[in-house]
Amino acid sequence: MIIARTLEELKTARETLGEVNFVPTMGALHEGHLTLVRAARAAGLPVAVSIFVNPTQFGPKEDLSRYPRDEAGDLAKLDQAGCALVWLPRVDTMYPPHASTSVHVANVTARWEGATRPGHFDGVATVVAKLFGQIRPQAAFFGEKDWQQVQVVQRMATDLHLPVKIIPVPTVREADGLALSSRNAYLSAAERKTAPALHAALKEAAQAILAGKEVAATLHKTRQQLAEAGLTPDYVALVHAHTLEPLAGFKAPARLIAAAKLGTVRLLDNLAVGP
Ligand code: AMP
Repeated sequence: MIIARTLEELKTARETLGEVNFVPTMGALHEGHLTLVRAARAAGLPVAVSIFVNPTQFGPKEDLSRYPRDEAGDLAKLDQAGCALVWLPRVDTMYPPHASTSVHVANVTARWEGATRPGHFDGVATVVAKLFGQIRPQAAFFGEKDWQQVQVVQRMATDLHLPVKIIPVPTVREADGLALSSRNAYLSAAERKTAPALHAALKEAAQAILAGKEVAATLHKTRQQLAEAGLTPDYVALVHAHTLEPLAGFKAPARLIAAAKLGTVRLLDNLAVGP
């Protein structure tokens, strides 16, 4: 496994490897990330993984400084998973002082995570565009766990005619349904027991909507269930799976999306409704 920390090292590695598939991450790797790596490998090319805790996607009051970091552990896991190249850029490599370009994706970013975290998706789109330019992958693999993020990246790639295929990968969950996330490490033992209530409530809501129950009433009930379980819902919505516009009634392609606070942790989850 090649480890590149500078643009020169990355250039040499890219010349050695030829075509690659790509998995961008912020490190603190878990089985969800490793599933993306395995999917990228199964697609038939050597896999490049980036580990970069991207400061521009964190708000001023967010957890940038305490975001979990474990470079040695991450490298061991990636080696084990058969990764060919790890790209570990420094902040000033990604954002040199003279850099003047950022990427703003409109519409699909207007609501949900975009509304709660102003500037977040500009940070995501900008860093992903830079990483695509550096790695020049055939295909890039993203987790459905961050559903809105995948739609934003797909929109950007389409709009900018970037020569990369965006491949969504289903969410990897714990046995009790909780979506794996680096931020789960912040949950106390008691909060960890409460956290699966989010997935359970979404599953129930998806079934109710498919059974013909009214959407608004179903979403209202889901918020109540979350509050009763001890979560503070931020949003629970039925949306068009790709535009993220709210749906008043069920119409495919639809996705249930939710964010809820549990102690200091913001949990995200989402589920397909119907085909
Ligand atoms: P992050 O390191 O949190 O920026 O995540 C890097 C990539 O891993 C993103 O594409 C995430 O959507 C994906 N990812 C994170 N958690 C999961 C999960 N539980 N299942 C599948 N993909 C995930």
